[in-house]
Amino acid sequence: MPEAAPTPRPSRCPICGKPTAEKLRPFCSRRCADIDLNRWLSGVYAVPGKPEEAEDETPPGKPASDQE
Ligand SMILES: [Zn+2]
Repeated sequence: MPEAAPTPRPSRCPICGKPTAEKLRPFCSRRCADIDLNRWLSGVYAVPGKPEEAEDETPPGKPASDQE
């Protein structure tokens, strides 16, 4: 089907939704880029799936110091 989607450029700041600045793609401003970076960084620390909190819980019925 010759129905090519007209996507010249998805210029939309993912942070605030404003038109993207070519220099700061895909963001509209340095500030938004910074915000995204911060989100990303904090996300990296939060994402790994195993928060330290869970590590504090010992699995029941399996003492770790009883393997030798
Ligand atoms: Zn923005």
